[in-house]
Amino acid sequence: MKSSTDLRNLLNKIDHKGYPAYKETKDMYQFEGYILSIDHVQGDPFASPSKVSIQIKGGQAGFPKELYEKQYKRIALQDYIIRQFARQVESFAFKAKGSGKSGMMSVSRCGQEILERSACQIADGSGDLTVRMEVGFPANGRTINARELMKIFFDFMPECVKKSLYYTSLDAKGVQLVAELAEDQQYIREQLPKLGLAAFVANESVLPRESGISQRPMKQAVKFQSPESMEVVLELPNRGSLRGMGLKKGINLIVGGGYHGKSTLLKALELGVYNHIAGDGREYVITDDTAVKIRAEDGRSIKHVDISMFINGLPNGKDTKSFCTEDASGSTSQAANVIESIESGTQLLLIDEDTSATNFMIRDELMQRVVHRDVEPITPFIDRIQELYDVYGISSIIVAGSSGSYFHKADCILQMDRYIPKDITSFAKKEAKNFPILTEPVPDAQTPSFKRCAATDHGFKKNDRIKIKTLGKDSISINRDTVDLRYVEQLADVEQVTTLGYLIKYAQLHLFDGKKSLQEVVEVLMELMSRKGLASICESSYLPSNLAVPRKQEIFACFNRLRSLRL
Ligand code: ADP
Ligand code: MG
Repeated sequence: MKSSTDLRNLLNKIDHKGYPAYKETKDMYQFEGYILSIDHVQGDPFASPSKVSIQIKGGQAGFPKELYEKQYKRIALQDYIIRQFARQVESFAFKAKGSGKSGMMSVSRCGQEILERSACQIADGSGDLTVRMEVGFPANGRTINARELMKIFFDFMPECVKKSLYYTSLDAKGVQLVAELAEDQQYIREQLPKLGLAAFVANESVLPRESGISQRPMKQAVKFQSPESMEVVLELPNRGSLRGMGLKKGINLIVGGGYHGKSTLLKALELGVYNHIAGDGREYVITDDTAVKIRAEDGRSIKHVDISMFINGLPNGKDTKSFCTEDASGSTSQAANVIESIESGTQLLLIDEDTSATNFMIRDELMQRVVHRDVEPITPFIDRIQELYDVYGISSIIVAGSSGSYFHKADCILQMDRYIPKDITSFAKKEAKNFPILTEPVPDAQTPSFKRCAATDHGFKKNDRIKIKTLGKDSISINRDTVDLRYVEQLADVEQVTTLGYLIKYAQLHLFDGKKSLQEVVEVLMELMSRKGLASICESSYLPSNLAVPRKQEIFACFNRLRSLRL
Protein backbone atom coordinates (compact mmCIF):
# COMPACT_ATOMS: atom_id res chain seq x y z
CA MET A 1 0.00 0.00 0.00
CA LYS A 2 1.19 3.49 -0.81
CA SER A 3 1.18 6.37 1.61
CA SER A 4 -0.55 9.70 1.33
CA THR A 5 2.90 11.23 0.80
CA ASP A 6 3.32 9.02 -2.26
CA LEU A 7 0.10 10.47 -3.63
CA ARG A 8 1.25 14.00 -2.92
CA ASN A 9 4.55 13.38 -4.66
CA LEU A 10 2.83 11.79 -7.63
CA LEU A 11 0.40 14.68 -7.96
CA ASN A 12 3.28 17.16 -7.84
CA LYS A 13 5.02 15.18 -10.53
CA ILE A 14 2.09 15.07 -12.96
CA ASP A 15 0.91 18.65 -12.40
CA HIS A 16 0.58 20.53 -15.71
CA LYS A 17 0.96 17.35 -17.72
CA GLY A 18 -1.65 16.06 -20.17
CA TYR A 19 -4.81 14.67 -18.62
CA PRO A 20 -4.04 10.95 -19.23
CA ALA A 21 -1.20 11.17 -16.67
CA TYR A 22 -3.93 11.19 -13.99
CA LYS A 23 -4.37 7.48 -14.77
CA GLU A 24 -1.22 6.80 -12.75
CA THR A 25 -3.02 7.78 -9.56
CA LYS A 26 -5.24 4.69 -9.61
CA ASP A 27 -4.15 2.98 -6.39
CA MET A 28 -4.74 2.80 -2.67
CA TYR A 29 -3.21 5.30 -0.26
CA GLN A 30 -2.98 5.15 3.50
CA PHE A 31 -4.18 8.36 5.10
CA GLU A 32 -4.46 8.92 8.80
CA GLY A 33 -7.32 6.73 9.93
CA TYR A 34 -8.49 5.62 6.49
CA ILE A 35 -7.51 4.37 3.08
CA LEU A 36 -8.20 6.52 0.08
CA SER A 37 -8.71 4.29 -2.92
CA ILE A 38 -8.75 5.78 -6.39
CA ASP A 39 -10.75 3.09 -8.14
CA HIS A 40 -11.15 4.51 -11.60
CA VAL A 41 -9.78 7.62 -13.29
CA GLN A 42 -11.81 9.45 -15.90
CA GLY A 43 -10.35 9.72 -19.40
CA ASP A 44 -10.81 13.44 -19.79
CA PRO A 45 -12.22 16.38 -17.82
CA PHE A 46 -15.60 16.10 -19.50
CA ALA A 47 -16.09 12.36 -18.99
CA SER A 48 -18.04 10.86 -16.15
CA PRO A 49 -16.07 11.75 -12.97
CA SER A 50 -13.47 9.51 -11.35
CA LYS A 51 -14.51 6.92 -8.77
CA VAL A 52 -13.04 7.19 -5.33
CA SER A 53 -13.67 5.24 -2.16
CA ILE A 54 -12.79 5.66 1.47
CA GLN A 55 -12.15 2.56 3.51
CA ILE A 56 -12.05 2.45 7.27
CA LYS A 57 -11.34 -0.62 9.36
CA GLY A 58 -14.19 -1.65 11.61
CA GLY A 59 -12.11 -1.13 14.73
CA GLN A 60 -11.28 2.39 13.67
CA ALA A 61 -14.76 3.38 12.50
CA GLY A 62 -15.86 2.15 15.91
CA PHE A 63 -19.55 1.50 15.39
CA PRO A 64 -20.86 -0.86 18.08
CA LYS A 65 -21.77 -4.25 16.68
CA GLU A 66 -25.39 -4.10 17.76
CA LEU A 67 -25.87 -1.18 15.38
CA TYR A 68 -25.22 -3.31 12.33
CA GLU A 69 -25.54 -6.98 13.27
CA LYS A 70 -29.05 -7.25 11.84
CA GLN A 71 -29.47 -6.53 8.14
CA TYR A 72 -32.23 -3.95 8.60
CA LYS A 73 -30.18 -2.07 11.18
CA ARG A 74 -27.08 -2.17 9.01
CA ILE A 75 -29.01 -0.69 6.09
CA ALA A 76 -30.41 2.06 8.29
CA LEU A 77 -26.97 2.87 9.72
CA GLN A 78 -25.37 2.95 6.26
CA ASP A 79 -28.13 5.27 5.13
CA TYR A 80 -27.53 7.56 8.09
CA ILE A 81 -23.77 7.65 7.56
CA ILE A 82 -23.98 8.48 3.87
CA ARG A 83 -26.40 11.31 4.63
CA GLN A 84 -23.98 12.72 7.22
CA PHE A 85 -21.07 12.41 4.83
CA ALA A 86 -23.01 14.05 1.99
CA ARG A 87 -23.86 16.90 4.34
CA GLN A 88 -20.20 17.46 5.12
CA VAL A 89 -19.24 17.40 1.46
CA GLU A 90 -22.03 19.84 0.66
CA SER A 91 -21.09 22.19 3.46
CA PHE A 92 -17.75 22.79 1.83
CA ALA A 93 -19.48 23.82 -1.35
CA PHE A 94 -16.03 23.77 -2.81
CA LYS A 95 -15.72 24.37 -6.49
CA ALA A 96 -12.35 23.79 -8.01
CA LYS A 97 -11.45 25.96 -10.92
CA GLY A 98 -11.12 24.32 -14.25
CA SER A 99 -12.73 22.75 -17.24
CA GLY A 100 -15.48 20.16 -17.52
CA LYS A 101 -16.30 18.44 -14.25
CA SER A 102 -13.19 19.75 -12.51
CA GLY A 103 -13.51 19.53 -8.77
CA MET A 104 -17.01 18.17 -8.74
CA MET A 105 -17.56 16.04 -5.64
CA SER A 106 -20.66 13.97 -5.76
CA VAL A 107 -22.19 11.76 -3.13
CA SER A 108 -25.55 9.94 -3.30
CA ARG A 109 -28.53 12.16 -2.69
CA CYS A 110 -30.79 10.13 -0.49
CA GLY A 111 -34.50 10.78 -0.55
CA GLN A 112 -37.09 9.90 2.09
CA GLU A 113 -36.69 6.15 1.71
CA ILE A 114 -34.01 4.09 3.41
CA LEU A 115 -32.34 1.93 0.79
CA GLU A 116 -29.32 -0.29 0.60
CA ARG A 117 -26.77 1.59 -1.50
CA SER A 118 -23.31 1.00 -2.87
CA ALA A 119 -22.39 4.48 -1.63
CA CYS A 120 -21.98 3.23 1.92
CA GLN A 121 -21.40 -0.28 3.03
CA ILE A 122 -20.58 -1.85 6.34
CA ALA A 123 -19.15 -5.36 6.16
CA ASP A 124 -21.13 -7.90 8.14
CA GLY A 125 -18.60 -9.40 10.49
CA SER A 126 -15.76 -6.91 10.62
CA GLY A 127 -17.73 -3.68 10.55
CA ASP A 128 -15.31 -2.34 7.93
CA LEU A 129 -16.80 0.79 6.38
CA THR A 130 -16.57 1.75 2.72
CA VAL A 131 -17.90 5.03 1.36
CA ARG A 132 -17.95 5.63 -2.40
CA MET A 133 -18.17 8.86 -4.28
CA GLU A 134 -17.23 10.58 -7.51
CA VAL A 135 -14.64 13.30 -7.93
CA GLY A 136 -14.01 15.28 -11.09
CA PHE A 137 -10.23 15.41 -11.38
CA PRO A 138 -9.43 19.06 -12.11
CA ALA A 139 -7.84 20.38 -15.26
CA ASN A 140 -7.35 23.58 -17.17
CA GLY A 141 -8.39 22.66 -20.65
CA ARG A 142 -6.83 19.21 -20.85
CA THR A 143 -3.90 20.06 -18.65
CA ILE A 144 -3.81 18.54 -15.19
CA ASN A 145 -4.40 20.94 -12.35
CA ALA A 146 -3.11 18.78 -9.52
CA ARG A 147 -3.08 21.61 -6.96
CA GLU A 148 -6.85 21.64 -6.93
CA LEU A 149 -7.01 17.86 -6.55
CA MET A 150 -4.59 18.13 -3.64
CA LYS A 151 -6.96 20.56 -1.95
CA ILE A 152 -9.70 17.96 -2.28
CA PHE A 153 -7.69 14.97 -1.08
CA PHE A 154 -5.58 16.65 1.57
CA ASP A 155 -7.77 19.46 2.92
CA PHE A 156 -11.44 18.78 2.34
CA MET A 157 -11.72 15.02 2.31
CA PRO A 158 -9.91 14.39 5.61
CA GLU A 159 -12.23 16.90 7.28
CA CYS A 160 -15.36 15.30 5.82
CA VAL A 161 -14.16 11.85 6.83
CA LYS A 162 -13.25 12.94 10.31
CA LYS A 163 -16.59 14.60 10.92
CA SER A 164 -18.88 11.91 9.60
CA LEU A 165 -17.38 8.45 9.27
CA TYR A 166 -16.31 7.62 12.82
CA TYR A 167 -18.75 6.62 15.50
CA THR A 168 -17.19 9.02 17.98
CA SER A 169 -17.61 12.01 15.69
CA LEU A 170 -21.32 11.40 15.18
CA ASP A 171 -24.07 12.27 17.59
CA ALA A 172 -24.42 9.03 19.58
CA LYS A 173 -28.05 9.74 20.39
CA GLY A 174 -28.85 10.32 16.72
CA VAL A 175 -27.22 7.05 15.72
CA GLN A 176 -29.10 5.23 18.46
CA LEU A 177 -32.42 6.65 17.29
CA VAL A 178 -31.74 5.43 13.76
CA ALA A 179 -31.21 1.88 15.03
CA GLU A 180 -34.29 2.08 17.24
CA LEU A 181 -36.51 3.32 14.42
CA ALA A 182 -35.23 0.54 12.15
CA GLU A 183 -36.03 -2.00 14.83
CA ASP A 184 -39.53 -0.62 15.35
CA GLN A 185 -40.24 -0.58 11.62
CA GLN A 186 -39.01 -4.13 11.30
CA TYR A 187 -41.21 -5.13 14.22
CA ILE A 188 -44.30 -3.70 12.52
CA ARG A 189 -43.42 -5.53 9.29
CA GLU A 190 -43.14 -8.78 11.18
CA GLN A 191 -46.43 -8.16 12.97
CA LEU A 192 -48.46 -7.61 9.79
CA PRO A 193 -48.84 -11.28 8.80
CA LYS A 194 -49.30 -12.34 12.43
CA LEU A 195 -52.21 -9.93 12.79
CA GLY A 196 -53.67 -10.74 9.37
CA LEU A 197 -52.93 -7.23 8.13
CA ALA A 198 -51.96 -5.98 4.68
CA ALA A 199 -50.84 -2.59 5.96
CA PHE A 200 -50.58 -0.39 9.03
CA VAL A 201 -50.88 3.41 9.18
CA ALA A 202 -50.05 4.95 12.55
CA ASN A 203 -52.16 7.72 14.00
CA GLU A 204 -50.49 11.12 13.67
CA SER A 205 -48.79 10.10 10.43
CA VAL A 206 -48.34 12.86 7.88
CA LEU A 207 -49.22 11.44 4.47
CA PRO A 208 -49.34 14.34 1.99
CA ARG A 209 -46.14 15.69 0.49
CA GLU A 210 -44.98 19.25 0.27
CA SER A 211 -45.57 19.47 -3.48
CA GLY A 212 -45.61 17.51 -6.70
CA ILE A 213 -41.85 17.88 -6.90
CA SER A 214 -40.93 17.52 -3.25
CA GLN A 215 -41.20 14.35 -1.22
CA ARG A 216 -40.85 16.18 2.06
CA PRO A 217 -43.85 16.14 4.39
CA MET A 218 -46.53 18.81 3.94
CA LYS A 219 -46.21 21.37 6.70
CA GLN A 220 -49.80 22.05 7.71
CA ALA A 221 -51.23 18.64 6.99
CA VAL A 222 -54.20 17.07 8.73
CA LYS A 223 -52.64 14.22 10.66
CA PHE A 224 -53.83 10.70 10.12
CA GLN A 225 -56.37 9.29 12.57
CA SER A 226 -57.65 5.75 12.37
CA PRO A 227 -61.37 5.01 12.67
CA GLU A 228 -61.92 3.46 16.08
CA SER A 229 -63.22 0.21 14.63
CA MET A 230 -59.99 -0.40 12.74
CA GLU A 231 -57.58 0.67 15.40
CA VAL A 232 -54.85 -1.72 16.46
CA VAL A 233 -52.28 -1.13 19.16
CA LEU A 234 -48.74 -2.35 18.62
CA GLU A 235 -46.14 -2.61 21.33
CA LEU A 236 -42.98 -1.47 19.60
CA PRO A 237 -39.68 -2.55 21.15
CA ASN A 238 -38.41 1.02 21.47
CA ARG A 239 -41.19 3.51 21.02
CA GLY A 240 -43.63 1.57 23.14
CA SER A 241 -47.29 1.46 22.29
CA LEU A 242 -48.39 2.81 18.94
CA ARG A 243 -51.96 3.09 17.73
CA GLY A 244 -53.02 3.14 14.14
CA MET A 245 -55.19 1.76 11.42
CA GLY A 246 -54.84 -1.89 10.52
CA LEU A 247 -55.94 -2.67 6.98
CA LYS A 248 -56.86 -6.34 7.02
CA LYS A 249 -56.01 -8.79 4.30
CA GLY A 250 -58.88 -9.24 1.88
CA ILE A 251 -60.65 -6.59 -0.16
CA ASN A 252 -60.38 -3.01 1.02
CA LEU A 253 -62.11 -0.13 -0.64
CA ILE A 254 -61.33 3.55 -0.19
CA VAL A 255 -64.07 5.94 -1.26
CA GLY A 256 -64.81 9.59 -0.68
CA GLY A 257 -65.36 12.87 -2.46
CA GLY A 258 -62.81 14.32 -4.81
CA TYR A 259 -59.88 16.01 -3.10
CA HIS A 260 -60.54 14.29 0.23
CA GLY A 261 -57.20 12.50 0.34
CA LYS A 262 -57.84 9.07 -1.21
CA SER A 263 -54.91 9.02 -3.61
CA THR A 264 -52.63 10.48 -0.96
CA LEU A 265 -53.40 7.56 1.35
CA LEU A 266 -52.84 5.06 -1.45
CA LYS A 267 -49.55 6.69 -2.43
CA ALA A 268 -48.33 6.42 1.16
CA LEU A 269 -49.26 2.74 1.14
CA GLU A 270 -47.41 2.21 -2.15
CA LEU A 271 -44.20 3.56 -0.65
CA GLY A 272 -44.83 1.81 2.66
CA VAL A 273 -43.00 -1.14 1.13
CA TYR A 274 -39.87 0.82 2.08
CA ASN A 275 -38.85 2.22 5.44
CA HIS A 276 -38.78 6.00 5.78
CA ILE A 277 -36.43 8.27 7.67
CA ALA A 278 -37.34 9.95 10.95
CA GLY A 279 -39.31 13.13 10.36
CA ASP A 280 -40.80 11.93 7.07
CA GLY A 281 -44.29 11.57 8.52
CA ARG A 282 -44.61 8.06 7.08
CA GLU A 283 -42.14 6.33 9.41
CA TYR A 284 -44.91 4.11 10.69
CA VAL A 285 -46.78 3.56 7.47
CA ILE A 286 -45.83 -0.03 6.78
CA THR A 287 -47.23 -2.03 3.89
CA ASP A 288 -46.79 -5.69 2.96
CA ASP A 289 -43.49 -5.34 1.13
CA THR A 290 -44.58 -7.42 -1.84
CA ALA A 291 -47.33 -4.90 -2.67
CA VAL A 292 -47.62 -3.73 -6.26
CA LYS A 293 -49.36 -0.65 -7.58
CA ILE A 294 -51.39 -1.65 -10.62
CA ARG A 295 -52.34 0.87 -13.26
CA ALA A 296 -53.19 1.22 -16.90
CA GLU A 297 -50.20 1.73 -19.09
CA ASP A 298 -51.23 2.24 -22.69
CA GLY A 299 -48.50 1.65 -25.21
CA ARG A 300 -46.33 -0.73 -23.21
CA SER A 301 -45.15 -3.96 -24.76
CA ILE A 302 -46.37 -7.32 -23.50
CA LYS A 303 -44.65 -10.64 -24.12
CA HIS A 304 -46.38 -13.96 -23.76
CA VAL A 305 -48.45 -13.09 -20.73
CA ASP A 306 -51.50 -15.18 -19.94
CA ILE A 307 -54.14 -12.48 -19.50
CA SER A 308 -57.04 -14.87 -20.15
CA MET A 309 -58.18 -14.38 -16.57
CA PHE A 310 -59.35 -10.95 -17.70
CA ILE A 311 -59.45 -10.95 -21.47
CA ASN A 312 -60.75 -13.56 -23.88
CA GLY A 313 -61.98 -13.77 -27.43
CA LEU A 314 -60.50 -10.61 -28.86
CA PRO A 315 -62.07 -9.53 -32.15
CA ASN A 316 -58.77 -9.99 -33.98
CA GLY A 317 -58.56 -13.55 -32.71
CA LYS A 318 -55.34 -12.93 -30.79
CA ASP A 319 -54.32 -15.54 -28.26
CA THR A 320 -54.77 -14.17 -24.76
CA LYS A 321 -53.23 -17.17 -23.01
CA SER A 322 -49.91 -16.05 -24.37
CA PHE A 323 -50.61 -12.48 -25.21
CA CYS A 324 -48.12 -10.33 -27.08
CA THR A 325 -48.30 -6.78 -28.27
CA GLU A 326 -45.96 -3.89 -28.88
CA ASP A 327 -48.68 -1.38 -28.09
CA ALA A 328 -51.07 -2.43 -25.34
CA SER A 329 -54.44 -0.79 -24.70
CA GLY A 330 -55.48 0.52 -21.30
CA SER A 331 -57.26 -2.67 -20.30
CA THR A 332 -54.77 -5.18 -21.73
CA SER A 333 -51.87 -3.32 -20.11
CA GLN A 334 -53.61 -3.30 -16.76
CA ALA A 335 -54.46 -7.00 -17.10
CA ALA A 336 -50.83 -7.79 -17.90
CA ASN A 337 -49.70 -5.70 -14.94
CA VAL A 338 -51.86 -7.81 -12.62
CA ILE A 339 -50.69 -11.16 -14.03
CA GLU A 340 -47.03 -10.14 -14.02
CA SER A 341 -47.40 -9.01 -10.41
CA ILE A 342 -48.72 -12.44 -9.48
CA GLU A 343 -45.66 -13.85 -11.26
CA SER A 344 -43.47 -11.59 -9.11
CA GLY A 345 -45.01 -12.99 -5.94
CA THR A 346 -47.17 -10.12 -4.80
CA GLN A 347 -49.65 -10.55 -1.96
CA LEU A 348 -51.26 -7.14 -2.27
CA LEU A 349 -52.52 -5.10 -5.21
CA LEU A 350 -52.98 -1.34 -4.94
CA ILE A 351 -55.24 0.30 -7.48
CA ASP A 352 -56.35 3.90 -7.93
CA GLU A 353 -59.28 4.65 -10.21
CA ASP A 354 -57.45 7.83 -11.26
CA THR A 355 -54.93 5.73 -13.14
CA SER A 356 -57.06 2.76 -14.17
CA ALA A 357 -58.84 1.78 -17.36
CA THR A 358 -62.54 2.00 -16.46
CA ASN A 359 -63.46 -0.98 -18.63
CA PHE A 360 -60.88 -3.06 -16.79
CA MET A 361 -62.33 -2.17 -13.39
CA ILE A 362 -66.11 -2.43 -13.90
CA ARG A 363 -69.02 -2.88 -16.29
CA ASP A 364 -72.14 -1.19 -15.18
CA GLU A 365 -75.56 -2.78 -15.18
CA LEU A 366 -77.00 -0.89 -18.08
CA MET A 367 -74.03 -1.72 -20.26
CA GLN A 368 -74.41 -5.38 -19.35
CA ARG A 369 -78.03 -5.29 -20.45
CA VAL A 370 -77.23 -3.61 -23.73
CA VAL A 371 -73.96 -5.23 -24.74
CA HIS A 372 -74.11 -8.92 -24.01
CA ARG A 373 -71.22 -10.58 -22.22
CA ASP A 374 -70.61 -12.91 -25.15
CA VAL A 375 -69.27 -10.05 -27.25
CA GLU A 376 -67.30 -8.42 -24.43
CA PRO A 377 -63.75 -9.76 -24.23
CA ILE A 378 -63.13 -8.25 -20.78
CA THR A 379 -63.95 -9.92 -17.50
CA PRO A 380 -63.48 -6.88 -15.30
CA PHE A 381 -61.29 -6.90 -12.22
CA ILE A 382 -64.36 -6.68 -10.00
CA ASP A 383 -65.35 -10.20 -11.12
CA ARG A 384 -61.92 -11.60 -10.20
CA ILE A 385 -61.10 -9.70 -7.04
CA GLN A 386 -62.62 -12.31 -4.70
CA GLU A 387 -61.03 -15.15 -6.64
CA LEU A 388 -57.63 -13.48 -6.40
CA TYR A 389 -57.98 -13.49 -2.65
CA ASP A 390 -59.55 -16.92 -2.22
CA VAL A 391 -57.37 -18.81 -4.68
CA TYR A 392 -54.09 -16.88 -4.64
CA GLY A 393 -54.22 -15.14 -1.26
CA ILE A 394 -53.81 -11.76 -2.93
CA SER A 395 -55.46 -8.85 -1.16
CA SER A 396 -56.50 -5.59 -2.77
CA ILE A 397 -56.75 -1.98 -1.70
CA ILE A 398 -58.77 -0.04 -4.21
CA VAL A 399 -59.52 3.65 -4.48
CA ALA A 400 -62.87 4.17 -6.15
CA GLY A 401 -64.68 7.42 -5.67
CA SER A 402 -67.06 7.31 -8.60
CA SER A 403 -68.53 3.83 -8.70
CA GLY A 404 -70.31 1.93 -5.95
CA SER A 405 -69.92 -1.40 -7.71
CA TYR A 406 -67.16 -2.57 -5.40
CA PHE A 407 -69.33 -2.10 -2.30
CA HIS A 408 -70.70 -5.60 -2.81
CA LYS A 409 -67.25 -7.15 -2.91
CA ALA A 410 -65.39 -5.23 -0.25
CA ASP A 411 -64.67 -6.61 3.21
CA CYS A 412 -63.87 -3.15 4.45
CA ILE A 413 -64.98 0.24 3.14
CA LEU A 414 -63.24 3.42 4.20
CA GLN A 415 -64.46 6.86 3.40
CA MET A 416 -61.90 9.65 3.31
CA ASP A 417 -63.64 12.65 4.78
CA ARG A 418 -61.57 15.80 4.82
CA TYR A 419 -58.42 13.65 5.04
CA ILE A 420 -59.78 11.58 7.92
CA PRO A 421 -60.83 7.99 7.19
CA LYS A 422 -64.24 6.78 8.41
CA ASP A 423 -65.22 3.14 8.55
CA ILE A 424 -68.49 3.04 6.58
CA THR A 425 -68.53 -0.70 5.91
CA SER A 426 -71.89 -1.54 7.47
CA PHE A 427 -73.67 1.56 6.17
CA ALA A 428 -72.39 1.04 2.61
CA LYS A 429 -73.20 -2.66 2.72
CA LYS A 430 -76.76 -1.89 3.82
CA GLU A 431 -77.21 0.58 0.99
CA ALA A 432 -75.68 -1.86 -1.47
CA LYS A 433 -78.38 -4.41 -0.60
CA ASN A 434 -80.89 -2.14 -2.32
CA PHE A 435 -78.86 -2.37 -5.52
CA PRO A 436 -78.41 -6.10 -6.02
CA ILE A 437 -75.82 -7.10 -8.62
CA LEU A 438 -77.15 -8.38 -11.87
CA THR A 439 -74.32 -10.53 -13.02
CA GLU A 440 -74.03 -14.20 -12.29
CA PRO A 441 -70.73 -15.15 -10.80
CA VAL A 442 -68.08 -16.04 -13.37
CA PRO A 443 -66.33 -19.41 -13.16
CA ASP A 444 -62.77 -19.35 -11.83
CA ALA A 445 -60.07 -18.69 -14.38
CA GLN A 446 -57.32 -21.16 -15.15
CA THR A 447 -54.17 -20.53 -13.16
CA PRO A 448 -51.87 -18.49 -15.38
CA SER A 449 -48.70 -20.22 -16.42
CA PHE A 450 -45.39 -18.56 -15.63
CA LYS A 451 -43.07 -20.63 -17.76
CA ARG A 452 -41.78 -17.78 -19.89
CA CYS A 453 -38.09 -18.25 -20.73
CA ALA A 454 -35.81 -15.61 -22.16
CA ALA A 455 -34.04 -16.66 -25.32
CA THR A 456 -30.26 -16.52 -25.51
CA ASP A 457 -30.36 -14.61 -28.74
CA HIS A 458 -30.62 -11.05 -27.55
CA GLY A 459 -27.98 -9.39 -29.64
CA PHE A 460 -25.31 -9.10 -26.93
CA LYS A 461 -22.02 -10.94 -26.90
CA LYS A 462 -19.80 -11.54 -23.91
CA ASN A 463 -17.20 -8.99 -24.77
CA ASP A 464 -19.47 -6.37 -26.28
CA ARG A 465 -19.40 -3.04 -24.63
CA ILE A 466 -22.88 -2.70 -23.26
CA LYS A 467 -23.81 0.90 -22.64
CA ILE A 468 -26.24 1.62 -19.86
CA LYS A 469 -27.72 5.05 -19.44
CA THR A 470 -30.16 6.11 -16.78
CA LEU A 471 -32.56 8.93 -17.58
CA GLY A 472 -33.74 9.89 -14.13
CA LYS A 473 -36.36 7.60 -12.67
CA ASP A 474 -38.20 7.48 -15.99
CA SER A 475 -36.17 5.12 -18.09
CA ILE A 476 -32.96 3.32 -18.79
CA SER A 477 -31.45 2.77 -22.15
CA ILE A 478 -29.30 -0.23 -22.74
CA ASN A 479 -27.54 -0.04 -26.05
CA ARG A 480 -30.40 0.86 -28.38
CA ASP A 481 -33.29 -0.29 -26.28
CA THR A 482 -35.08 2.09 -23.96
CA VAL A 483 -37.04 0.68 -21.04
CA ASP A 484 -39.86 3.00 -20.09
CA LEU A 485 -40.26 2.96 -16.30
CA ARG A 486 -42.43 6.05 -15.89
CA TYR A 487 -45.38 3.99 -14.73
CA VAL A 488 -43.46 1.70 -12.44
CA GLU A 489 -44.46 3.91 -9.57
CA GLN A 490 -42.79 2.14 -6.68
CA LEU A 491 -39.28 2.81 -7.87
CA ALA A 492 -38.14 5.15 -5.15
CA ASP A 493 -34.77 6.30 -6.40
CA VAL A 494 -32.82 6.83 -9.59
CA GLU A 495 -30.06 4.63 -8.15
CA GLN A 496 -32.45 1.69 -8.18
CA VAL A 497 -33.00 2.36 -11.87
CA THR A 498 -29.25 2.33 -12.50
CA THR A 499 -29.04 -1.02 -10.74
CA LEU A 500 -31.80 -2.34 -12.98
CA GLY A 501 -29.58 -1.46 -15.93
CA TYR A 502 -26.77 -3.61 -14.52
CA LEU A 503 -29.20 -6.42 -13.77
CA ILE A 504 -30.41 -6.47 -17.37
CA LYS A 505 -26.84 -6.61 -18.56
CA TYR A 506 -25.91 -9.36 -16.14
CA ALA A 507 -28.96 -11.42 -17.02
CA GLN A 508 -28.32 -11.05 -20.71
CA LEU A 509 -24.72 -12.12 -20.41
CA HIS A 510 -25.14 -14.96 -17.95
CA LEU A 511 -28.70 -16.02 -17.26
CA PHE A 512 -30.93 -15.88 -20.30
CA ASP A 513 -30.31 -19.32 -21.76
CA GLY A 514 -33.64 -20.31 -23.27
CA LYS A 515 -34.18 -22.68 -20.34
CA LYS A 516 -34.48 -20.66 -17.16
CA SER A 517 -37.88 -19.09 -16.61
CA LEU A 518 -38.07 -15.37 -15.90
CA GLN A 519 -38.96 -16.27 -12.30
CA GLU A 520 -35.79 -18.33 -11.99
CA VAL A 521 -33.67 -15.58 -13.50
CA VAL A 522 -34.99 -13.00 -11.03
CA GLU A 523 -34.49 -15.45 -8.17
CA VAL A 524 -30.82 -15.85 -9.12
CA LEU A 525 -30.33 -12.09 -9.28
CA MET A 526 -31.97 -11.54 -5.88
CA GLU A 527 -29.87 -14.30 -4.38
CA LEU A 528 -26.66 -12.86 -5.85
CA MET A 529 -27.36 -9.39 -4.52
CA SER A 530 -28.28 -10.55 -1.06
CA ARG A 531 -25.46 -13.06 -0.67
CA LYS A 532 -22.61 -11.41 -2.53
CA GLY A 533 -23.73 -7.82 -2.68
CA LEU A 534 -24.11 -5.36 -5.51
CA ALA A 535 -20.56 -5.91 -6.71
CA SER A 536 -21.49 -9.40 -7.88
CA ILE A 537 -23.82 -8.10 -10.57
CA CYS A 538 -21.63 -5.22 -11.74
CA GLU A 539 -18.63 -7.14 -12.93
CA SER A 540 -16.45 -4.10 -13.31
CA SER A 541 -13.13 -3.58 -11.59
CA TYR A 542 -14.78 -1.18 -9.17
CA LEU A 543 -18.25 -0.88 -7.67
CA PRO A 544 -20.00 2.30 -8.87
CA SER A 545 -21.05 4.69 -6.13
CA ASN A 546 -24.56 5.20 -7.44
CA LEU A 547 -26.41 1.92 -7.04
CA ALA A 548 -29.36 1.13 -4.78
CA VAL A 549 -31.05 -2.24 -4.40
CA PRO A 550 -34.47 -2.48 -6.05
CA ARG A 551 -37.24 -4.84 -4.98
CA LYS A 552 -37.86 -8.08 -6.76
CA GLN A 553 -41.16 -6.68 -8.05
CA GLU A 554 -39.40 -3.83 -9.86
CA ILE A 555 -36.86 -6.20 -11.39
CA PHE A 556 -39.76 -8.12 -12.93
CA ALA A 557 -41.37 -4.87 -14.01
CA CYS A 558 -38.17 -3.83 -15.73
CA PHE A 559 -37.69 -7.10 -17.64
CA ASN A 560 -41.34 -7.01 -18.62
CA ARG A 561 -40.82 -3.65 -20.31
CA LEU A 562 -37.60 -4.54 -22.08
CA ARG A 563 -38.67 -4.63 -25.69
CA SER A 564 -35.55 -6.34 -27.02
CA LEU A 565 -36.04 -9.27 -24.67
CA ARG A 566 -37.27 -12.36 -26.47
CA LEU A 567 -39.40 -14.44 -24.17
P1 ADP B 1 -58.41 12.50 -3.92
O1 ADP B 1 -57.61 11.36 -4.48
O2 ADP B 1 -59.38 12.06 -2.87
O3 ADP B 1 -59.08 13.30 -4.98
P2 ADP B 1 -55.87 13.58 -3.13
O4 ADP B 1 -55.31 12.49 -2.29
O5 ADP B 1 -55.33 13.74 -4.48
O6 ADP B 1 -57.44 13.50 -3.17
O7 ADP B 1 -55.65 14.90 -2.28
C1 ADP B 1 -56.08 16.16 -2.73
C2 ADP B 1 -55.19 17.26 -2.16
O8 ADP B 1 -55.27 17.30 -0.76
C3 ADP B 1 -53.73 17.08 -2.52
O9 ADP B 1 -53.21 18.33 -2.91
C4 ADP B 1 -53.09 16.63 -1.24
O10 ADP B 1 -51.76 17.06 -1.13
C5 ADP B 1 -53.96 17.26 -0.18
N1 ADP B 1 -54.00 16.43 1.02
C6 ADP B 1 -54.09 15.09 1.06
N2 ADP B 1 -54.09 14.64 2.32
C7 ADP B 1 -53.98 15.73 3.11
C8 ADP B 1 -53.91 15.92 4.53
N3 ADP B 1 -53.94 14.90 5.38
N4 ADP B 1 -53.78 17.19 4.98
C9 ADP B 1 -53.74 18.22 4.13
N5 ADP B 1 -53.80 18.10 2.80
C10 ADP B 1 -53.92 16.88 2.27
MG1 MG C 1 -57.37 10.76 -6.48
